[in-house]
Amino acid sequence: MEVCGTHTTVIAKSGIKNLLTNYLELRSGPGCPVCVTDQSDIDRIIELARMPNTIIASFGDMVRVPGTYSSLELERARGAHVKIFYSPHEAVTFAGKYSDMKIIFLGVGFETTAPAIALSIAEAEQQRIKNYSVLSVHKLVPPVMKALLNDPELHIDGFILPGHVCTITGRKAFDFIASKYNIPAVIAGFEPADILQAIYLLLQQMVDEKAETINGYTRLVHEDGNIKAKEIIGKYFEPIDAYWRGFGLIPESGLKLKTVYSDYDADERFPVKVPESLPPEGCSCGEVLRGKLTPGECPLFASICTPSEPVGPCMVSTEGACAAYYNYSD
Ligand code: SF4
Repeated sequence: MEVCGTHTTVIAKSGIKNLLTNYLELRSGPGCPVCVTDQSDIDRIIELARMPNTIIASFGDMVRVPGTYSSLELERARGAHVKIFYSPHEAVTFAGKYSDMKIIFLGVGFETTAPAIALSIAEAEQQRIKNYSVLSVHKLVPPVMKALLNDPELHIDGFILPGHVCTITGRKAFDFIASKYNIPAVIAGFEPADILQAIYLLLQQMVDEKAETINGYTRLVHEDGNIKAKEIIGKYFEPIDAYWRGFGLIPESGLKLKTVYSDYDADERFPVKVPESLPPEGCSCGEVLRGKLTPGECPLFASICTPSEPVGPCMVSTEGACAAYYNYSD
């Protein structure tokens, strides 16, 4: 299983998936942050967008994700303010200029995204910008790996681990996959050659009947990761139990702003009432994210659900498995 959504895209785009199709099966995992965001969180974001004098600041992919009753794209067409930013720093600068508006940045991402969001809060604090806040729905990868490994129905022979996340966490954070579960794992970079190397190292371990967590991305990943980035995450955030699409509640798998920063926590500042959330009808994103189905096994794939008319988030996001399979597979 390749855990990371960017790996899924590289595997499909480079032809590796088609090349190896008769020899081994590559299953996609829960590594697309937009895809794993729970439906109730999508609906909460939509309710926040409906508040007066509010601008939802987001990375691009979130805008088209369908919630139960609406999407940010639909709300924007109805008059809500939804603005795409390439970094939270830009959103803080924007908040400084528009002090009469509430700017809510959507903290959607893994360990890789959290440091930049934490720094944006530091920046807002320093500049005494009061109208900036963050809705943190960040997710942590090691806990979801444990959820996959503890699933009795899932039999994964090896894991290609997310290189970007491991630059922050370090290799050691994933040692448990081999040491506790006896499953080989390799951290991979994002060139096709990196993926092929990771597959080779996984197969070699299987042939040798060994299990290790190997760092195949040594040009960026270190044993203990990025200490400074981990410190800044630890200063602003604390782990909480979080809901993941397809998995439900996973202990200590999310990040919440610490109480001392509650002035910047959109969850605390703007408690909105969220209607009952339901996943898109017929959508198998939950099973795809858990590696139980491939996108092509979803009955809606490429018929009712396409990138121009997506039913679920896995077809919306550029890192989504369904979009990758649709765009690049035979
Ligand atoms: S093809 Fe569409 S409906 Fe099916 S799992 Fe993927 S996103 Fe959901």
